[in-house]
Amino acid sequence: MHPRDLSDHVEYQAGRGIEEVARELGRDPSEFVKLASNENMFGPSPLGAEAVRETATDVHHYPTADHADLVARIADEWDVTDDQVWLANGGDGALDYLARATLEPGDDVLVPDPGFSYYGMTARFHHGGVSTYPVERDDGFSLTADAVLDAYDGERVVFLTSPHNPSGGRFTLDAVEEIAEETDEETLVVVDEAYGEFTDAPTAIDLVRTRDGVAGSNPAASRAKRDDVVVLRTFSKAYGLAGLRLGYAVVPEAWADAYRRVNTPFAANLVACRAGLAALEDDEHVERTVETAAWAREYMTEHIDARVFESHGNFVLVEVGDAAAVADALKRRGVIVRDCTSFGLDDCIRITCGTKEETETVVAELNEVLAE
Ligand code: PMP
Repeated sequence: MHPRDLSDHVEYQAGRGIEEVARELGRDPSEFVKLASNENMFGPSPLGAEAVRETATDVHHYPTADHADLVARIADEWDVTDDQVWLANGGDGALDYLARATLEPGDDVLVPDPGFSYYGMTARFHHGGVSTYPVERDDGFSLTADAVLDAYDGERVVFLTSPHNPSGGRFTLDAVEEIAEETDEETLVVVDEAYGEFTDAPTAIDLVRTRDGVAGSNPAASRAKRDDVVVLRTFSKAYGLAGLRLGYAVVPEAWADAYRRVNTPFAANLVACRAGLAALEDDEHVERTVETAAWAREYMTEHIDARVFESHGNFVLVEVGDAAAVADALKRRGVIVRDCTSFGLDDCIRITCGTKEETETVVAELNEVLAE
């Protein structure tokens, strides 16, 4: 017996941790700053971290299968009903549930190129095929309804990332709506808002239909509410809980029942759920994170001696020439960034927004590397 042959399958290119890099270079981990995985520059939400400590004595219990408190709190946040919230083991877990809920063998999905690799991977796991639409790199990367619709050929699921990883660009809500409108009724549009807290653009949850038809965080919006749009969010970025693996999808009301048929028995772990619930009250941490990310984007844009693409996330994409060489030189100088070769951008690196000090360090080191 052999495992399935997934040899032509894209692999998930997880960023390497500080310990791994330090070991490779025979140095102490304290000598490194990691700005490679779009993690939170201030660490976890303090309220979330406190909940983690407090939950330690309860972890011999299974979580409640419906995670009711957290789900109700998230539903309240977005003005949707509880059963529209599909809790999962990270945004990645929510992508798995969506693939399980939508794909029949042989169905295709349409994903951005360059883009987040896990969309295609989970489609393949679920016996789906993958086609791509271009995120055009003309005068900056642009995410347009036309590019998606020109490539669209009846795929079952269309993935939109907004803000987009790795470019930092975003779709307008009009574009999302146009894509949902112009694709078949049986096509689902997934709007991945993993970096949604970092942009001031309205969330696509405004488009998702609820029971009474007046959904979304902005009840005044006059947008039509849809049955073919799902929005993905995560606690990994602005809330600083990446290690706990907690994310969710907001689905149309009509989808409510499907969750029970596709989810893992305990979709998210007890510690993650308690921490997530606490972190949702931690406005101070989120605001500080979002403000610092905005500052860091601006600082990097102004001070890096290379082209920095406009970003709405907690990272920037920078055109540096030989990305692998520049990322390697930075690593030796103690700064770990993301070489975007695996995204098909072998002349770009992606730098996560750090604290003031980290951001100033990476800019200074990068400028020296570029001048060499
Ligand atoms: N979507 C995008 C665009 C991402 O960049 C990431 C994480 N890097 C995710 C989803 C998944 O995040 P998580 O599973 O940590 O919630």
